[in-house]
Amino acid sequence: MREINETKPEELLIFERSRPGRIGYSLPECDVPAVPKEELVPPEMLRREGLSFPEVYEVDVVRHYTALSRRNFGVDNGFYPLGSCTMKYNPKINEDVARYPGFAKIHPYQPEESLQGALELMYRLQRDLAGITGMDEVTLQPAAGAHGEWTGLMMIRAYHESRGEKRTKVIVPDSSHGTNPASAAVAGFETVTVPSNQRGMVDLDALRAAVGEDTAALMLTNPNTLGLFEQQIVQIAEIVHAAGGLLYYDGANSNAIMGITRPGDMGFDVVHLNLHKTMSTPHGGGGPGAGPVGVKKRLAPFLPEPTVVMDESGRYAIRGRRPEGAAGFASTVGTGKPSVSAGSAGSVGSIGSPGSAGSVGSDGPCVSPTSTASIGSPSPAPEGGLPGTQGSASIGRVKAYYGNFGILVRAYAYIRSLGPEGLRQVSENAVLNANYMMKRLAPYYEIPYSDQSCKHEFVMSGSGLVQYGIRTLDVAKRLLDFGYHPPTIYFPLNVEECIMIEPTETESKETLDGFIDCMIAIAKEAETNPGLLLNAPYTTPVTRLDETGAARKPVLNCACG
Ligand SMILES: *Cc1c(COP(=O)(O)O)cnc(C)c1O
Repeated sequence: MREINETKPEELLIFERSRPGRIGYSLPECDVPAVPKEELVPPEMLRREGLSFPEVYEVDVVRHYTALSRRNFGVDNGFYPLGSCTMKYNPKINEDVARYPGFAKIHPYQPEESLQGALELMYRLQRDLAGITGMDEVTLQPAAGAHGEWTGLMMIRAYHESRGEKRTKVIVPDSSHGTNPASAAVAGFETVTVPSNQRGMVDLDALRAAVGEDTAALMLTNPNTLGLFEQQIVQIAEIVHAAGGLLYYDGANSNAIMGITRPGDMGFDVVHLNLHKTMSTPHGGGGPGAGPVGVKKRLAPFLPEPTVVMDESGRYAIRGRRPEGAAGFASTVGTGKPSVSAGSAGSVGSIGSPGSAGSVGSDGPCVSPTSTASIGSPSPAPEGGLPGTQGSASIGRVKAYYGNFGILVRAYAYIRSLGPEGLRQVSENAVLNANYMMKRLAPYYEIPYSDQSCKHEFVMSGSGLVQYGIRTLDVAKRLLDFGYHPPTIYFPLNVEECIMIEPTETESKETLDGFIDCMIAIAKEAETNPGLLLNAPYTTPVTRLDETGAARKPVLNCACG
């Protein structure tokens, strides 16, 4: 009898399913005379060997991808309380709207007259985001949160330099998101870290001691990454402004404040938002995203160009676009000018994005030569400031075309379908859900700042379980057996054995209770049966992995024949 293979069919790699000569498609008969490829392509550019693609039937391709999708975990599969990431349910109607042919099938090189609907959407979104954040002007170009941070910091840099001031330091609290000091470094600043006080807030005395003539900006998240609202934000703003610095608001997670308070009213000068967290774009695993940046009037001259404007007649236009428009594109294709690689400095989402202006061998129709030279570089900006788009103080372009347009459509649909009242409810429910969870879990896990209510998320510590030999990592792994995505762990860095939970507004009480009960059960298991936790998970395709090894020495190809 034939031996039964232990590998389940759905666990086979697509390469293992491959058999020479199998074909999964059929093409119509060729209706033009066949020409040998040697006559069409120079011989030195022809491959000598075939590609080692798997050769399978259509049904095997379908099973391959279906099996992969079942191993994935997303918000549409289950609860995903990943703190600081806002993994909320994204209404499907916003996906439908982004797929309308009028949005999905346009091209950025079309003449402005034929893009009026898209430009109107961008213009209105700029105005809505300015309203939500309390800012005067908004750019939609940045492709991610970190990219927005970098864009904002480059504007801050240009602002100080325009006043003849050399300010080299950016202050961040010790609870800050890792992208903050990283963006500051990439923008050419030194970072100064200020400690939090016992209540998890910025320590005002430490801040007073840190500011000075060299302070360019303070970067702050409010509510901060501990989920706490910085109640002394007005004093914080006064201290920084009095020293001549500006305030940068990391608004990656705006889920707690929409319709309730605005960074602009708190004294901030620059804000970025993560549309892919707060405003209805599914994310995780790399993108695409959008990190629009809003600024107060005094920084508006430095905004990236091009930007969408409306003239007196109500017609929308792209300011900063080179006058020759689409014709300019045609005439510059293939000139081999150095490409922009826009946004490469700040953003994962935009690196090597297909269809970037650079990839057609041109700097595109919308980039002035001066700005291409100055922006794409990941190294600190040149001394003496950035040459902007010709004739303006703009820091230039930071992203190919006008940003990730599909994400902007989703965000606009989200904002419009909820309206101001709906957005406020989003934030109220996000905060309510987080406080409910925090209160129910408090008897079982240490809550470091439990004397105050939290905002959209909260942190706990697993340090009470260390006495049983159990670490936060073990709790997170055990959660997988119950079908939950674990919360964020070991961040922020200033809480030991940190567990950071963000339930979001889109979950029912039953879902919250199910997760809470599970966390309580795991705390009990830690006490009574720690071995069980140390070897978890048991129900996943793979169990404990060498995560450092997987990140540092990834094996990305298949060695099977
Ligand atoms: C997610 C996040 C960022 C970075 O956003 P990306 O889009 O991943 O670059 C920055 N700050 C905070 C507080 C965040 O939560």
